[in-house]
Amino acid sequence: MSPTASPAARDRLRIAIQKSGRLAEPARALLASCGLSWRESRDRLFCYGETLPVDLLLVRDDDIPGLIADGVCDLGVVGRNVLREQDGERRAGGRASAFREWRALGFGGCRLALAVPEAWDWRGPAQLAGKRIATSYPALLSAWLAEQGVDAQVVLLSGSVEIAPRLGQAEAICDLVSSGATLAANQLKATTTLLESEAVLAGPVDAFDDVRGELAELLLRRLDGALRIRHSKLLLFQAPRQVLPDLLPLLPDAETPTVMQLDGGDGVALQALCHGAVTWQRLEELKRAGARGLMVLPVEGMLA
Ligand code: ATP
Ligand code: ZN
Repeated sequence: MSPTASPAARDRLRIAIQKSGRLAEPARALLASCGLSWRESRDRLFCYGETLPVDLLLVRDDDIPGLIADGVCDLGVVGRNVLREQDGERRAGGRASAFREWRALGFGGCRLALAVPEAWDWRGPAQLAGKRIATSYPALLSAWLAEQGVDAQVVLLSGSVEIAPRLGQAEAICDLVSSGATLAANQLKATTTLLESEAVLAGPVDAFDDVRGELAELLLRRLDGALRIRHSKLLLFQAPRQVLPDLLPLLPDAETPTVMQLDGGDGVALQALCHGAVTWQRLEELKRAGARGLMVLPVEGMLA
């Protein structure tokens, strides 16, 4: 626990999220789906938790790991790329880790990749020896180069990394890629992936030893439920009992279904929580195998 944390932070949980940008809305929506709601401050930098003592601080994503390290915030939603980079910087500077990934959140997916001019005939990392590589992720790039045993020069740029080769600042770049369209527009192509990234819930290295510990546990339980059911559906249908062995393997990543005997005859009604995609095609397959009255329902909440 950092000595800089305010006493008020001890009985309420404070979560830092991005104020605006790619992760801002999905982070809020995910936390709201855990039953949290807030009253926003006039300056829109702080949101006071109403349903639970869990407040939000709206900041730049790059500030989130530092806010956790300093004890200003307890948790944060940030890209794994930012978290790992800042952890790498701390450790390269001889400091201990002060934050870690608590949960992967399944949105904000991208990868940190090495990109080279399209004209290069890419044969592997050894080709980078003696070259300049522009990046905003010096710690991750340096660690990767060391791992590969390649001696290249890391050129630190804070933005517009993809134009560095055209400006003559570097021969290659190491940057975030999602579709690759930005790279193509700059006559670059992605080669090796250094890090697969997505938004994560970040927290301190050790668990909280006060009332925030219980709050964090409650939040994690709800979060795990919300993440698990994100793409889940409840599938209901009826079928003759004898076709069950054909139907059950067709259920997309389902938990053990509930089977109820129908009044009179050999019919049963089934209820199955499916975590895989319940597509039209899958419904048609189930119907061909003997299922009737198929119904797909959204799942709003789940507590294991
Ligand atoms: P801030 O003003 O908060 O510093 P930013 O410009 O650094 O904003 P965004 O561009 O909103 O941040 O990106 C936030 C995070 O979104 C990235 O760190 C990364 O984890 C993720 N992300 C997903 N796809 C991409 C992408 N194509 N390019 C950049 N980041 C991406
Ligand atoms: Zn940023």
